[in-house]
Order: sequence, then structure tokens, then C-alpha cells
Amino acid sequence: MHIPRMGRRSLLSLAFAASLFAGPAKASSCSLVDSPNPPCFHPHVTPTFKIIVVHYGDHAAQYDFEAAKRLYVERFNREMGRGVTVEIVDSAVIPLKVEPRDLVAMESHVGGNDPAQKTRDRLERLWYYYFSGPDGLIDEVRTLLLDGGHRPALEEADAVLVVSEPQFEALGFASGAFGFTEQPSEIAWALSDGGRTEWQPSARLVDELMHETGHLLGLDHASAHCFADSTPPNDRVACCAKSAGRNDVMSYCRDRAAVKGNFYYGFTDCTRKYVRKTTARALLRGEARPFQDQACD
Ligand SMILES: [Zn+2]
Repeated sequence: MHIPRMGRRSLLSLAFAASLFAGPAKASSCSLVDSPNPPCFHPHVTPTFKIIVVHYGDHAAQYDFEAAKRLYVERFNREMGRGVTVEIVDSAVIPLKVEPRDLVAMESHVGGNDPAQKTRDRLERLWYYYFSGPDGLIDEVRTLLLDGGHRPALEEADAVLVVSEPQFEALGFASGAFGFTEQPSEIAWALSDGGRTEWQPSARLVDELMHETGHLLGLDHASAHCFADSTPPNDRVACCAKSAGRNDVMSYCRDRAAVKGNFYYGFTDCTRKYVRKTTARALLRGEARPFQDQACD
């Protein structure tokens, strides 16, 4: 999912226009230290997209965070080839922020009466779904990085990818320079049996991280027209079958459940071309962060 920040961009443009009449304009900062949504990239010597990867929560030991990071870099760079490469410049496991949360009230959101479905850890993860949301999570993780000694890395990085125990709407999202994916996934907790908690295998996690990285590099969803309101839900399968980008990691046509150890989705000609040309140029020149005007088919 990509959350448009157009409202904010318009406000920024207005502020910039106003500054033209208010004396010398202050150069706008491209730094993640100053904003979670910087308007531009730092100029780069090589088209390297520099990332901080964070596990946010107390249970990073439930999966192999280090292996997931390695697999992510290996798959992304193999798929994108020349043009833009990703590099992890810093990484952190950040325990959940200590703050008062009304978890007793949260119990009513989980179906059934099984105490095993209403553990403190699970209620904390779900609390974010109801009381935080994407902007709150971004601010929380960014503040914890700044307070936790990661200011130099935030100064250098182009983006932050967060593997998040706190839950939110959808599997992942990208907003500003932050991409989030959930780990574990809390599923159907409101049903009478309380649903279930799924820790994603590394390959599935990497699929989602590559997708959010695509958004951070300026890619829209591929095959988006198959999921537009103008396409009836019954026609989606046929639409996807004809879409050139159906096997692109940016496409909702892809079958996430099929992603296993050796099988994964990457980029296709159209998305690769956009990143290699448009995003790479913006990285090298330190220009505005781009976003596709026209989604790939
Ligand atoms: Zn998306």
C-alpha cells in the first residue's frame, strides 16, 4: 500500500512559495533527521539507496532477522540489476516503547474467551491498530531511532524499513521515507475463535519489504487497473492474466502465498526502467523524490 502525502506536499509547496516573498529561502532539508517525509534525496556519488532496517517490538528472536535482511539485499539487487542498488547502512532491534495502554479494554476486540488468544503481547500489537495508525507509528519509530543513537544513520539514509510487531491496516505501507511491514500478522482476531497469529517466513517478509521499497523509490502498483473500481471484482483474474506486470513484486496480481524459499517475485521491464532512469537520476542529482505519473501495466 502506498499512502499518498499529496496534502502535505501541497502545504509544503505553499510554504515554499510564501518563503519566496519572505526574504532568502532556507534550503529545504533532504534529511530524515528533520522530517519523516523529506521532499528530496541527498545527492549520491553512486545510485545507492541507503536504508536503515528496524525490527520494532520485543520478539525479534521469533524469526531470523539477520537472514531476512541478507535475503532482502540479495534479491532486490539481483532483480534490479544495474541502475539502483540497496545498501543497509544501519539496523536496529528496538523494543516496544514503554507507555500506558489500556489493554483490558483491548480484550473486548478479540473474539471468544480463550486467554491464550488475549495475551499481553498480542493485545499490545493490536492496540496500535486501533489507537495509533501509520503516522503515529512512523513518528514513534523515528523518535526512538533519534533517541537511541541512530541520528548519524538517519542523516545518511534515504529510507527506513520497519518490520513491525505493532499492527495496522493492510500488510504493509509506505509513506514519506518510511516503509512498514507487519511481523507477525494478526489475522481475523475479531472472529468468535479469536483468529490467529502468523509469523511470516523470511521469503514472505522479503517479498513485502521489496514491495514497500518499490514505493519508496517512486513506483506505483503494477497492474493497478485490474483493481480499480472500473474493473468488476469478477474480472480481476482475467485482467491479471493479460497484465504485463502480473508477476511484478509491485502487483496485487501476484500470489503472495506462492512465495517460498526459492520462488519469489521481482521487478519487470516497466518498473525496472522507471527506477533505473528516473529514480537513479534523482538520487545522483539530489533531486525531488519521484513518484510515477502513470502506473505500469
Ligand atoms: Zn503497495
